[in-house]
Amino acid sequence: MTQPPRSSSAPPLIVRSIADLRAAVARIRAAGGTIGFVPTMGALHDGHLALVRAAQAEASHALVSIFVNPAQFAPHEDLDRYPRTEAADVARLAEAGCALVYAPAVAEMYPPGAVTRVRVPGVSAPLEGQFRPHFFEGVATVVTKLLIQAGADVAVFGEKDWQQLQVIRRLAADLDIPTRIIGAPTERDTDGLALSSRNAYLSPEARARAVALPQALLALKADLESGAVVGPSVARALAALAAAGFGPVDYVAVCEPHTLEALPDDAPLAGPARLLAAAWLDGTRLIDNLGVAP
Ligand code: AMP
Repeated sequence: MTQPPRSSSAPPLIVRSIADLRAAVARIRAAGGTIGFVPTMGALHDGHLALVRAAQAEASHALVSIFVNPAQFAPHEDLDRYPRTEAADVARLAEAGCALVYAPAVAEMYPPGAVTRVRVPGVSAPLEGQFRPHFFEGVATVVTKLLIQAGADVAVFGEKDWQQLQVIRRLAADLDIPTRIIGAPTERDTDGLALSSRNAYLSPEARARAVALPQALLALKADLESGAVVGPSVARALAALAAAGFGPVDYVAVCEPHTLEALPDDAPLAGPARLLAAAWLDGTRLIDNLGVAP
């Protein structure tokens, strides 16, 4: 069947209700198109745009949602100061050839009386789950709703949030959500820092020191690839982060890549692993991760 042309640099259609989203998706499908979905919280950077390109490689039309999800922020976290830049985001999405933007209000996503929550035990318990106990229930709930609302063919999530990607793969499988879940590699700045909307909180001086986070993970990866024992290698990474002025360091962990169970401290790696870190720098929490195979 002939596919409708990929959208050009025409501005995307912006929809704000579930009904309008479903109608727009139905029009694309009726013309023979397919939908590649990229959920975001806005404040778009080149990492998000790489996900849009990945979605466009898999489907005829890219759909991007912009929704700062209150359910995944604890009361003391940065919900109020999280950057909201919708006009600039839509301009970048127009340039990227994105067909459709879904930007619902909080009351559309969580109308009065809504109480159902999605929990994904196991994979969401350690790491981010330990330090941000509200986080994955909020993410799992909103991503489940977004996947059901959009009915996309594929949805693309960043490996930047590695544990989140594992949680989403688990919930999509467990809840028989027919959208195919794709992971896309982390986009980094020229010095190696993973792109993140939260990097905007860093002063120029802190931004310069932030590169110690990916460097500590790269050094940990090199140690483990050369056969070093896990525990002392992690201790070296923690010391490097402290020396660069990070504090507190929530975790530096060496985990089984999909279950995120911690691997033994007292031995070298016996198989593939994921290295994950979360640490604070001047009041901003940064996360990063890398794959390693011995
Ligand atoms: P956020 O807007 O931060 O919630 O992120 C929306 C999506 O973009 C998630 O799937 C993230 O994992 C992904 N993402 C964020 N930063 C990056 C990055 N530097 N590289 C690739 N994907 C990213």
